[in-house]
Amino acid sequence: MPAVIKMTFLGTGTSQGIPVIACNCAVCRSADVRDKRLRSSVLIEAAHRVLLIDAGPDFRQQLLRANVQRLDGILLTHEHKDHIAGLDDVRAFNASTGQPVDIYAEQRVMNALQREFQYVFTENKYPGAPEMNLHTIDEHPFTVEGVDITPIRGWHYKLPVLGFRIENLAYITDVNRVEEPEFEKLKDLDILTISTVRHGHHISHFSLEEALAFIAKVQPRRAYLTHLSHLLEAHSELQAMLPDNVQVAFDGLTV
Ligand SMILES: [Zn+2]
Ligand SMILES: [Zn+2]
Ligand SMILES: [Zn+2]
Repeated sequence: MPAVIKMTFLGTGTSQGIPVIACNCAVCRSADVRDKRLRSSVLIEAAHRVLLIDAGPDFRQQLLRANVQRLDGILLTHEHKDHIAGLDDVRAFNASTGQPVDIYAEQRVMNALQREFQYVFTENKYPGAPEMNLHTIDEHPFTVEGVDITPIRGWHYKLPVLGFRIENLAYITDVNRVEEPEFEKLKDLDILTISTVRHGHHISHFSLEEALAFIAKVQPRRAYLTHLSHLLEAHSELQAMLPDNVQVAFDGLTV
């Protein structure tokens, strides 16, 4: 029996979020709350564990909004700021548990964290600086507190990124290509979350058309689109254009 697993979209926007600062387009001015998108991140609850995928600049606001009381680990897809910038706020969990927060990422991403959050890893630390335990991962499956996780290798133009499969659910963001052998790891999914930013070509992200082709190839029972930009239609208009098994995710959606 697969464990019951719950996923909450904490953010579903691209790196600028929606609305974009100083933009007056129809999507940025939309009154629909589903068109208010913080930077992309999901909370996964499985086997009484709580995991976060990515910790962008809206981390604090997102965890407050979802009333997250515990965190057993943060999985990072890659080191772009919209996926790591909120890590300073793990201090809240350091204070509540007295423990460092466990971070799982590739070596290259770890190196970026050590540069970007230099004060966390320095020898004479400022008292009250964040406490993080770094766990280096690669394409091979690993376990966080009893939760089995299978990384999926994708490409963000020339930058390798990791997606993650947990049980019957996969989350892949910021890719414009997934390596052919990785499709083996994506068989028999109930839920696939995949990113897209716009129609037409983008150098480092799936376009909407490419994301739909990817979904058609993987054949999950249901798919969700995330990491959306204001260049796509507003939520309801975009949803109406999609096949029945493809949903536009929105902030706060739980599946
Ligand atoms: Zn991103
Ligand atoms: Zn706009
Ligand atoms: Zn990125």
